[in-house]
Amino acid sequence: MSTKYIVVTGGVTSSLGKGIICASLGRLLIARGLRVTIQKLDPYINVDPGTMNPYEHGEVYVTDDGAETDLDLGHYERFLDVNTSQENNVTTGRIYYDVIMKERRGEFLGKTVQVIPHITDEIKSHVLRLGNSGDYDVVLVEVGGTVGDIESLPYIEAMRQLRYEVGRKNTLSIHLTLVPYLSAAGELKTKPTQHSVKTLSESGLSPDLLVCRSEYSLDQTIRKKIAQFCNVDLEDVTASLDADSIYEVPLLMQKEGLDERVIEKLGLPAKNADLKRWTEFVERIKYPQHEVNIALVGKYVEHHDAYKSIVEALIHGGAMNHTKVNIKWIQSDHLDYNNTADIIGDVSGILVAPGFGDRGIDGKFAAVRYARENDIPFFGICLGMQCAVIEYARNVAGLEDANSTEFDPETPYPVIDLMPEQVNIVEKGGTMRLGKYDCSLLEDSKAHEAYQSDLIDERHRHRYELNNELRDNLEKSGLKMTGLNPERDLVEIIEIEDHPWFVGVQFHPELKSTVSKPHPLFTNFIKHSLLKSDIEIPKAAKETT
Ligand code: GLN
Repeated sequence: MSTKYIVVTGGVTSSLGKGIICASLGRLLIARGLRVTIQKLDPYINVDPGTMNPYEHGEVYVTDDGAETDLDLGHYERFLDVNTSQENNVTTGRIYYDVIMKERRGEFLGKTVQVIPHITDEIKSHVLRLGNSGDYDVVLVEVGGTVGDIESLPYIEAMRQLRYEVGRKNTLSIHLTLVPYLSAAGELKTKPTQHSVKTLSESGLSPDLLVCRSEYSLDQTIRKKIAQFCNVDLEDVTASLDADSIYEVPLLMQKEGLDERVIEKLGLPAKNADLKRWTEFVERIKYPQHEVNIALVGKYVEHHDAYKSIVEALIHGGAMNHTKVNIKWIQSDHLDYNNTADIIGDVSGILVAPGFGDRGIDGKFAAVRYARENDIPFFGICLGMQCAVIEYARNVAGLEDANSTEFDPETPYPVIDLMPEQVNIVEKGGTMRLGKYDCSLLEDSKAHEAYQSDLIDERHRHRYELNNELRDNLEKSGLKMTGLNPERDLVEIIEIEDHPWFVGVQFHPELKSTVSKPHPLFTNFIKHSLLKSDIEIPKAAKETT
């Protein structure tokens, strides 16, 4: 069977949740026994989102191969449980960069280099590379941005050409649109959808299927109207209503028959969907037996998307414990040691988030100290782990003014320091320690208890590390180094023994938590937070250790 390509565009407005719809359709097709991947085409000029501020772009999602990518790839991995790579995220910046490099090498043989055909060819070649790998039956291509945007045009044109080249029977165009409700008129309105389909059709990419986001259900009359004016069959108008949890979306889309229509139109050999485990997971989220309050301490907390994967991993860890996790978002620069009890006194677990730069850093030290002194389960991720090391150095190991050289280059005790290979790096894009690295675990540790393994691998994104020259001082005063990179002896996990659950990790475990495999550190963090809140541990949680 030749690979099928499903192109997903969005209309009317941004933020319709195209990534979730793609991930949901991907999950439904996988549940039917197909091999699926998703590729995101992003129409901005940055080569990747790695250099963007979290306020601009939300979280930067890192893949095993060390690509810094769009946060939608996190949804793809969480829903599909397949690994993505650099190939799964293409930006206009990368396309132009590659085309310009080819031009410099003289590969265009004296031709004038133009958007059409050179840029569109480059876009197609990225899509086809995934399709031709032989690894997938279906490649879902999510075109970022909104139809009608100037910067999306080369992508739409490339997808039009792709349909022509690989054959219409091998491709499908799905358009996600909005059907807004006007309360003054008391009606759902189809006109924005009609316009956006018209714009898309003018570019030669008429949709075969519509997914209509709406706050209210679409009755037959409105579906007929949309079908008639958008030139699709009635059953090709599907509705996507707001859901309480993103994890319900695949089930809702299945009810709407989206996967059925896709399979029929593409002639895919598909079995009946097996969504048993997925449904069980959704049930756990919808009907929790417990609740637990967790403080998430960070500097971008007004912008929850900056911590997308952490939030989802907490939900996964909660589900494993039949527990709803209430996140208390704490702006780190509002915290100091004296007000910690007032601000986070009601939580049963404290997570100090990753980050860069010194804004709010003292608040993070305060949160760590509060967790350490009050036996509150603590989970430090990347910068959060580094803060835990610094706090321990200062207040337990007696290394006065210990710090990271990121915040104080002159500190007498640089317990966190720039990695040697980073010293001469001046370029910012793609130059951190990125992607998957091994980590061996000490047997008698909380980490080992969670992972139940001697050797793991996790994804990284940082320039600084625990300074091995000061490791002895920290170890002597009781900080345990429980995870080490075997090749370079870098400290990847720290713990405090005499504490119910105090774990700091240099890597980003949140990036590998999926619905099928909730991350064991998050599961155990929630489990111990439940214990702290005096809730009897549910049976399922006991089974996870
Ligand atoms: N700023 C720290 C470093 O570069 C931590 C990075 C992070 O939290 N991702 O090492």
